[in-house]
Amino acid sequence: MPPETVEVRRSSRRRRTVSAYRDGEKTIVLLPDGLSRTDEEQWVRRMLDRLAAKEQRRRPSDDDLLERANELSARYLDGSARPSSVRWVENQRHRWGSCTPDHGTIRISSRLRGMPAWVVDYVIMHELVHLLVPSHGPRFWTLVERYPRAERARGFLEGFSTAASGAAQEW
Ligand SMILES: [Zn+2]
Repeated sequence: MPPETVEVRRSSRRRRTVSAYRDGEKTIVLLPDGLSRTDEEQWVRRMLDRLAAKEQRRRPSDDDLLERANELSARYLDGSARPSSVRWVENQRHRWGSCTPDHGTIRISSRLRGMPAWVVDYVIMHELVHLLVPSHGPRFWTLVERYPRAERARGFLEGFSTAASGAAQEW
């Protein structure tokens, strides 16, 4: 990762409010005017840690993935898909997800980390349905479409693939 570019903005109007957000490559930290240099440095550090922790929470663990898979199965597939494990994998460069129906295992490409939850959920949903229907036939898609944002998520991922590599993605 490149070193973080931090821009501190001081405002007398923000008396006690301290906040931080990402703006492209930069991180903006809003501080009240008139803090000592030491206080300011401490606040910047604290706000950067807080922001990083918040972003970390958006990247679910393997356990979180399994929990989400079970929720999706319960909500959209009457609990009929029963994954034994769902985990992130690093070595899946040409597919967003894959599964082994005999073992009930699902693998999700780590390239999805940090993407919106509803997009990750779609990929999990896709693989859950594969545990029930191996091929991409009409029955497969009927089940996948029970996930309300299926089409939107496909559009999102297609746009992402095109931007990243110019190549179509295989599931
Ligand atoms: Zn598929």
